[in-house]
Amino acid sequence: MVQIHGVPAFEDNYLWVIEDGLRAAVVDPGDASPVADFLDHRGLVLTAILATHHHKDHVGGLAALAARGDVEVFGPASERIAGVTRPLAGGERIAVPGLALSLEVIAVPGHTAGHIAYAGEGFVFCGDTLFAGGCGRLFEGTPAQMAASLAKLAALPPATLVYCAHEYTLANLRFAQAVEPGNARLAERFFADSDRRARGEPTVPSTLALEIETNPFLRARVPEVAAAASRHAGRALATPLEVFTVVREWKNTYR
Ligand code: ZN
Ligand code: FE
Repeated sequence: MVQIHGVPAFEDNYLWVIEDGLRAAVVDPGDASPVADFLDHRGLVLTAILATHHHKDHVGGLAALAARGDVEVFGPASERIAGVTRPLAGGERIAVPGLALSLEVIAVPGHTAGHIAYAGEGFVFCGDTLFAGGCGRLFEGTPAQMAASLAKLAALPPATLVYCAHEYTLANLRFAQAVEPGNARLAERFFADSDRRARGEPTVPSTLALEIETNPFLRARVPEVAAAASRHAGRALATPLEVFTVVREWKNTYR
């Protein structure tokens, strides 16, 4: 059995450490020192690094952590990330060295062109693709790519724990409520997650089931979401992809 811990870094990043009491892997180590402190404090040996995409806040600590010893470094094949020893395209299944853990690699382009996610054993590490209550900005990909990537993640089992890389949840849920003011489950979630933040607790992981019920970026097919997007755009929207595209653009300017 592995345990997963969120090591906070920068303003709002979570660097996820997976450990079995002896050995550990870290997902998206944007900064080395908080991860090194965590490992040293618990006497854990780092055996693997899993990178989802090339942004600095996800790989900035990679080299320093890889230098701790025998560390396999997994990352997207199509992105330039120094130190990757196991380039991945998506579609592979990997065994995480040192941990009894097998993960499926999923290509999820959109936020960046080569973004990958790691799924297995009831959880998914999805970087900046699916967020709690939201989704990543489209820096390198198209809305169609992001929508397809989110659909792949949404097809995982509903109980899957969603370990995204940022604590953006409350801002995301405020926007979600602007899109869907009548969604009771969303209102409930906003109260629950506001409470967590007020107590200084993380809102991540969420579950895929909750995301499907409350995350507007997984709900382009829901009539209320489509109607809100259409009102915002000032025109009729013919397809779920058009709805998704409008909602993604709307979020960029929503305050
Ligand atoms: Zn990013
Ligand atoms: Fe990020």
